[in-house]
Amino acid sequence: MKIHEFQAKQIFRKYQVPTPFGGLALDSEKARQIATDIGNFPVVVKAQIHAGGRGKGGGVLLAHSFEEVTQHADSILGMNLVTHQTGPEGKIVKQLLVEAGVNIEKELYLSLVPDRDTACILVVASEAGGMDIEEVAASTPEKIIKVPINPLIGIQSFHCRKVSFGLNIPAPVVKEFSQMLTRLYQLFVENDCSMVEINPLVITKEDKVLALDAKMDFDDNAMFRHKDLLEFRDLDEEDPLDVEASKYNLNYINLDGTVGNMVNGAGLAMAVMDTIKLAGAEPANFLDVGGGATAEMVENGFKIILSDDKVKAILINIFGGILRCDILAQGVVEAARKTEIGVPLVVRMEGTNVEEGKRILAESGLKLFTAEDMKSAGEIVAKIVAG
Ligand code: ADP
Ligand code: MG
Repeated sequence: MKIHEFQAKQIFRKYQVPTPFGGLALDSEKARQIATDIGNFPVVVKAQIHAGGRGKGGGVLLAHSFEEVTQHADSILGMNLVTHQTGPEGKIVKQLLVEAGVNIEKELYLSLVPDRDTACILVVASEAGGMDIEEVAASTPEKIIKVPINPLIGIQSFHCRKVSFGLNIPAPVVKEFSQMLTRLYQLFVENDCSMVEINPLVITKEDKVLALDAKMDFDDNAMFRHKDLLEFRDLDEEDPLDVEASKYNLNYINLDGTVGNMVNGAGLAMAVMDTIKLAGAEPANFLDVGGGATAEMVENGFKIILSDDKVKAILINIFGGILRCDILAQGVVEAARKTEIGVPLVVRMEGTNVEEGKRILAESGLKLFTAEDMKSAGEIVAKIVAG
């Protein structure tokens, strides 16, 4: 689960990770009032969307007067902000963060992520922070340092020193920086984060460390023990089909292709997506209805797949273990009748009661194709979407 910058900064404050003074505005009047509270210019008006690259897309603007605050707030609110992270369709801005402008001496990059290779929490940092960090990573990767922290030991002063030296933190700031990094690590672990990123983390001309930007992502599988964080969820920022699928407890991810597919088991679902691609088509989604899927879940799966306009055909590949093939077949037939499926359906199933399942499909009167194995299922569906 991702959250907005202003929310991440609330959590930062709780952990005493310093951020500029500011507040949330839903209209230009409120933006002006926050500017009054800040008390001096410049102030920064920032679009709040779940994507980075806002600065380059025109979603972060400096204001030097109240008039400019109003102007910037009016121009950013409601704009369709397109950044390299939103995709070409962009995101409509509904909320603003209005913040005190900071005298930046140096912009650094700092992030924490779990690293599966080392089973550590990795501190990734760079002296060359700011809006061009992707370019830095691509052309001068040596400017990025990585310090692994073994979670069983936790963060120690030698970790902090290593990062400080790697970033050339000025001597008078090292202590403050190390304290901040230690608290950030604590925040990361205590909230089951899957990513915390500060870009830029700045050293001000007054030798203070400040997080000017904040990105935070949480491990969805740990959300059950962070009910307090759930209030930060913003459904507007999530794919509507993903939101719908999560209501039914379906494991669904919307993708770009034209072949909708419904599979039981995540491993099999991955294999089916590979099969579709191998046959020359592209999957429209990942959908795992779960090992113990019921006929009702199959129906819900259909609804989700069919509400995606891109889908030109559906491939169902189910291994009948806990869910028997005859039950599945019945579920497919009922769902197909109820939802009036307008696209061709390819079914491949294997396992318990497969013969009975096939009979039900054959006698259903539905227009569907049955495939004997995965490879041919992929080929049939690819042929259909190719016209
Ligand atoms: P994004 O990463 O989405 O582009 P940022 O919050 O990093 O958005 O802002 C982009 C740039 O705007 C920063 O790299 C920084 O140079 C500038 N900026 C952001 N907040 C402030 C601030 N409070 N004071 C001065 N400059 C800022
Ligand atoms: Mg940034």
